[in-house]
Amino acid sequence: RAKSAHSNEPCFYDSQMDDALKARRELIADLRTALEAEAFELHYQVQAAIPSGEISGYEALIRWRHPTQGLIPPSIFIPLAEKSGDIVPLSIWVIRQACFEAALWPNRHIISVNLSPVHLADPRLVETVRSALADSGLAPERLTLELTESAIIHDRRFALEQLRALKAMGIAIALDDFGVGYSSLDVLRSFPFDRIKLDASFVAEIEHDEQAVSILRSVAALGTTLNIPVLAEGVEQAAQLSIVSREGCSAVQGYLIGHPSRALADAEQVRQTMSLRPHALEELAVG
Ligand code: C2E
Ligand code: MG
Ligand code: MG
Ligand code: MG
Repeated sequence: RAKSAHSNEPCFYDSQMDDALKARRELIADLRTALEAEAFELHYQVQAAIPSGEISGYEALIRWRHPTQGLIPPSIFIPLAEKSGDIVPLSIWVIRQACFEAALWPNRHIISVNLSPVHLADPRLVETVRSALADSGLAPERLTLELTESAIIHDRRFALEQLRALKAMGIAIALDDFGVGYSSLDVLRSFPFDRIKLDASFVAEIEHDEQAVSILRSVAALGTTLNIPVLAEGVEQAAQLSIVSREGCSAVQGYLIGHPSRALADAEQVRQTMSLRPHALEELAVG
């Protein structure tokens, strides 16, 4: 429709497309160089238990220090790497790096690593994880892999086989971005998830939107019924923490308690932030 409307200006559109394509190709080439140069780093975002406020783990989030474009977020280069075929080597680097770094932490917190659907489809994944654990000395119980529903919908049988093999090794599997996919409930029933991460979009509106609160409440109840802890993503405000606590979530992650960072969180500070809850609830009742 838009195409035919603009069919008189092919040159304008073609040159724009050329530019975008060129930029993508350049970025893919840079990505390969970056892999060799190890220009990536992992930042860690703290997760804390409700209501204790104890740190329950960290999520590893990749960052790319591009030589000329500065810090490039994963939302840009992960999809690119998934299409170009570079995601598997990149993902292997992430898994190994996360295991080696977490093995050196002065505590035994869990490290959660995001796993690309493309890597889940790789038959060598289980061996990759096994050797990352063996080489780093990280206990399998300290590693969690985060998967979105999209990882599972393509080849369900093989995905299930992979997840079972990973779990047999002792690592845990979290369902990431829960609620924004196509078949959340079906996926929950059919796959052995140890944790649910409720997508940040459900948390963003809970202060103003009764329906968002109802959904949050239902997911927390579902987690209780299935005996799967539910973590609320993207908690930025004390009032949001109050609500996710009240509605039965087991853990939180978000800017309120910590931004992704190279440094590990200060346990005392996290506990204090988490204990702001009663105060925030009062404010909420007034407002
Ligand atoms: P995700 O796994 O859902 O990670 C959570 C994202 O939300 C992160 O963005 C995090 O920085 C951001 N975030 C955390 N707390 C808050 C908050 O309170 N408010 C807001 N607005 N945002 C918050 P980031 O680091 O840009 O990563 C984006 C996505 O890129 C991740 O979503 C994940 O899907 C993917 N990703 C990141 N690292 C890796 C990786 O090593 N491998 C793969 N395959 N994917 C990765
Ligand atoms: Mg994640
Ligand atoms: Mg998420
Ligand atoms: Mg996400």
